[in-house]
Amino acid sequence: VIANAAMPGSGRGDPVLYSDFALHLTEKALIARVRRKARNRPPIVAGIGDDCAILRIPQGHEAIVTTDFSLEGVHFRRQWHPAESVGHRCLVRGLSDVAAMGGEPIAAFLSMAVPRKLPQKWVGQFLQGFLKLADRFGVSLAGGDTAESPDGILADIVVVGSCPKGRAIRRSGAIPGDSIYVTGKLGGSEAALQRMFAKPKGRLNHTDFPRHFFPEPRIRAGTILREKRLASAMIDLSDGLSTDLAHICEESGVGAEIDSEKLPRARVGKAKRAVSLNLALHGGEDYELLFTASAHTKIPARLGAVAVTRIGQITARKKIYVVRQGEREELKPQGWEHFR
Ligand SMILES: [Mg+2]
Repeated sequence: VIANAAMPGSGRGDPVLYSDFALHLTEKALIARVRRKARNRPPIVAGIGDDCAILRIPQGHEAIVTTDFSLEGVHFRRQWHPAESVGHRCLVRGLSDVAAMGGEPIAAFLSMAVPRKLPQKWVGQFLQGFLKLADRFGVSLAGGDTAESPDGILADIVVVGSCPKGRAIRRSGAIPGDSIYVTGKLGGSEAALQRMFAKPKGRLNHTDFPRHFFPEPRIRAGTILREKRLASAMIDLSDGLSTDLAHICEESGVGAEIDSEKLPRARVGKAKRAVSLNLALHGGEDYELLFTASAHTKIPARLGAVAVTRIGQITARKKIYVVRQGEREELKPQGWEHFR
């Protein structure tokens, strides 16, 4: 695994690009902490401070790798999302992909481009949100790069995880007759965005919308499914049920039927009102797991800390339908594109 191990304040990388947020004390302290941690974690042989990170993949395992962008104006807005939430969500995107394979995360690599006028405090709080989550899942920040952006904040996260050889849960394993399940509740993240669009100047109470501001990656649920060989196919819900289910169906060469009444709709806001069916079907960024399992496999009601709901079944006909009040209608992928 190769990575440019230059982090802000580490004294490496392009000194010109660093001029803006290199020598900040708090940040330096943060990086020192990161470096200490990176050294102490067993799977990492060398992390920040060398030209490449060297990762030791446990014997009999293979590496799984994912990368995701977090872009200002596309995935977050500075006036809506606190920096800590942006850092948290940036890492969740990668951790959730690892969870979707049934893998365990090992190391993260973070590259950032920020505008010259961005307050240093913002970067510090972003890293705090990022590292707090990394710590909870035993993930080392093992490298990255920084640059100046002409406009807007760009963060690119790479997460490396591992899985016992040949045991990663793919999108392609669903067969007709399999049941379809989701973890947690759907639509809660998009509901927060809708409110912010409706009142762009208002402030949402973050604790009323935890799934949006501080979503939990379903690592434990994913590893249980893999260890017990329960799932035939899996994906994480980043773009919305209608879009992500279509990915499973396409990769597996099957179709699906969803029972609208079974969908676990998130309850949001102070009043804890259930979100609309549309939000549950199409809302993105819930970071729950969507998986299939043989009809003969008994799926527990909970996987770790999260509830599991059966929402439909896989069919041979290569189309996706949603059944509501006895009527069957085709479900087209409509993952919402947030900031258009
Ligand atoms: Mg994914």
